[in-house]
Amino acid sequence: MASHEAAMDFTINDALDAQSELAARSLTSASHTVALTGAGLSVESGIPPFRGKGGLWTQHGEPPMDGFQRFLRDPRKAWQDRLSPRESWATALRDTLAQAKPNAGHRSLAELENLGCCDCVITQNIDDLHHQAGTRSLLEIHGNHRLLRCLDCITRFEPEEVVVDPENLPPQCPHCGGLIKGDTVQFGEPIPPDVLRGCFEQVAKADCMLVAGTSATVYPAAEFPFEVLKRGGVVVEINPEPTDLTGRATLSLVGPGGPVLERVLHHVSALLKATAS
Ligand SMILES: [Zn+2]
Repeated sequence: MASHEAAMDFTINDALDAQSELAARSLTSASHTVALTGAGLSVESGIPPFRGKGGLWTQHGEPPMDGFQRFLRDPRKAWQDRLSPRESWATALRDTLAQAKPNAGHRSLAELENLGCCDCVITQNIDDLHHQAGTRSLLEIHGNHRLLRCLDCITRFEPEEVVVDPENLPPQCPHCGGLIKGDTVQFGEPIPPDVLRGCFEQVAKADCMLVAGTSATVYPAAEFPFEVLKRGGVVVEINPEPTDLTGRATLSLVGPGGPVLERVLHHVSALLKATAS
């Protein structure tokens, strides 16, 4: 059974429901909550993880580990490859991303933002699904596969905002004439400074962090939950399997992000209604 089907069949037992309510109490009493999400959340939207069993790269081969350096060495060739991908991993990724739709986890986080219980989502995913679900305060550490970004002025563009002439590659930034590349952060590419700064600002303000669908072992995300814990804040983890965070987080809810976040949202709504009446 694929993971996204397993998530749909998942039932929340009494113990997990009680933990979901505790998580909801943390969210409603916090002054600034930041969610941190990763690949695990999008597995339920049919996007396989990159590595491991059934992983895109495991099946189709890995992208070059020096992708960004290759881009800088020959941006024209990198753009030709982007416009007509030949590598199996690149076409598989493109097709998978084109089909993916937000799941209950993405939608619940967007609704938590509407209810004033999620001030920002920091994601390691490039799949645009938080955006599609309606999250407005969003920091995409590894970029967004739909967007383009100027390497000089760091402006991001919708694809239609940039003239891409196959005869005259690479395209130029409409603002500054700089070098345009896809917004997805490649291997060897630094995280864009505006996003990194945004993450540090958000984490510095957070007294509650909701970690969903990530073991948060990769820099810089790995530091964020511990920053919050160090300052006496609350960390709520939602992952299908125990992770390095389990046992150190204030609360660890073991289950798929979609159904569990939906349950947390249910309790948040109920608590807010009870307070209002
Ligand atoms: Zn520019």
